[in-house]
Amino acid sequence: MCDECEDHHPDHSLAAPNRRKVLLAGASLVAAPLLAGAATGAQAEQAQSSVGNGPFPARAYSAASATSPLVPMQIERRAIGPNDVFLDVLYCGICHSDIHHVRSDWGPDRYPCVPGHEIIGRVQAVGSAVTKFKVGDIGGVGCMVDSCRTCENCLADREQNCLMGATLTYNSPDPISGGHTFGGYSDKIVVPEHFVIRIPPGADLAATAPLLCAGITTFSPMQHWKLAGGQRVGVVGLGGLGHMAVKLAVARKADVTVFTTSPGKIADARRLGAREAVLWSDTEAMKRLANRFDLVIATVPRAFPMQQFVDVLKLDATLVNLGALEDLQSVSGRSLVFGRKSIAGSVIGGIAETQEVIDYCAARNIKADIELIQPEEINRAYDRVVNKDVRYRFVIDMASMKPVAGSRGGST
Ligand code: NAP
Ligand code: ZN
Ligand code: ZN
Repeated sequence: MCDECEDHHPDHSLAAPNRRKVLLAGASLVAAPLLAGAATGAQAEQAQSSVGNGPFPARAYSAASATSPLVPMQIERRAIGPNDVFLDVLYCGICHSDIHHVRSDWGPDRYPCVPGHEIIGRVQAVGSAVTKFKVGDIGGVGCMVDSCRTCENCLADREQNCLMGATLTYNSPDPISGGHTFGGYSDKIVVPEHFVIRIPPGADLAATAPLLCAGITTFSPMQHWKLAGGQRVGVVGLGGLGHMAVKLAVARKADVTVFTTSPGKIADARRLGAREAVLWSDTEAMKRLANRFDLVIATVPRAFPMQQFVDVLKLDATLVNLGALEDLQSVSGRSLVFGRKSIAGSVIGGIAETQEVIDYCAARNIKADIELIQPEEINRAYDRVVNKDVRYRFVIDMASMKPVAGSRGGST
């Protein structure tokens, strides 16, 4: 099933390369007025560009199926439209969602799959109507590259909850080029300026990339549930999202407890600023912590036993599930009713809020703990993430990507 539109039809995927080619070919001709944001010839000529107007060949890492490793391939990026920003990708984080997509964990997905939605790049060209960026600026792209921009959620800066379904950075139907979107495991990307985040000067670029998904995804619930200094917050799972949740909660002077399944992460949790770290299996500690927490943020990548984390919530408190998309495991209705407790979910954050977390982190020197890897190391990194052995985000040095064998390579 398509997780964006819930279409069960096996032909739903628009991945057919022919369709992509046809749409690209028509983009600057008759089809242009129908394709919001696509460049017309005249508009494209006005792009500020040292690289031409495109479309552009780009190098990428992609998976051909749910069981294939990621390998180099050449893709095409669309011509620069009037509102588009063309970025040379410098860094891209590896989110567990990338692995879920590549491996079709959430149901049959789209292939070839070029993942990546924690993107930092340098602006190489901008469309004629772009005001937010100029050539040479640093921009960030998170999980979305478009949305309808007219529904009530988009108008309220909640593009992630777009009622038409936001266009995700990868594996979403691509309304401009046809086919499906390709993400940041690539050396170039073209994105509407509204969906490009300004990266403040002086930022540690590689360690800032994970803020574009892991950072915003954990910041947004803290904002929504108004996590305040002195309040008690639990973080379940110390991985990419979890370690950012700890850092962001500590920055708010909240009292942080990490719930982990990995004894080896207990010391790290304290180093990151948590007051305490508890193994799920430590029933004594779990009992001691009952009815204590104002907010629990769960980052476990699949359905997990929730009752023990409902039990640690105090009156009126909320358990926010960020990771599990499957049916959730059963929870006692009694425990929710008598404690007026809630179980909620949350997905990334809007563009304005993503800019907010980037600026918030820059002002406080908050960044991810990363392992910088070469593109050739992606498959090994995936295995380490799945084995809970990431400390705490892999970031790919995309600028070091080599030319794809047998291709002309990129245009820069
Ligand atoms: P990650 O780096 O792999 O971290 C997940 C952590 O959860 C692991 O390090 C591990 O922590 C724990 N864990 C892993 N497998 C587990 C299992 N089978 N049972 C119990 N605990 C387990 O993943 P991530 O990138 O932070 O992403 C976490 C989840 O959030 C993924 O499912 C991802 O798709 C999802 N996500 C959601 C959003 C959103 O908008 N809602 C955004 C991004 C990602 P310990 O070793 O400490 O136990
Ligand atoms: Zn992500
Ligand atoms: Zn919308």
